[in-house]
Amino acid sequence: MIVRLRVNPITCEAHGMCAELFPEWIELDDWGYPIIRPAANDPEHEEHRKRAVAACPALALRIIHSQ
Ligand code: SF4
Repeated sequence: MIVRLRVNPITCEAHGMCAELFPEWIELDDWGYPIIRPAANDPEHEEHRKRAVAACPALALRIIHSQ
């Protein structure tokens, strides 16, 4: 199972909350939009991913599971 943390660039409002909660693996670009590092998808970061998704006020973060 492949897990990916994805941001929807249409609904993201550049609040930056995700980067505050998950700073080692999400950085913000010059406009405040998140750049998700590949390591954010490592299995050991599951709780961090879930916390970032739950905290996003725009519901712009999702965890995608694929085979
Ligand atoms: S918390 Fe949500 S709205 Fe804010 S920058 Fe992150 S993904 Fe975008």
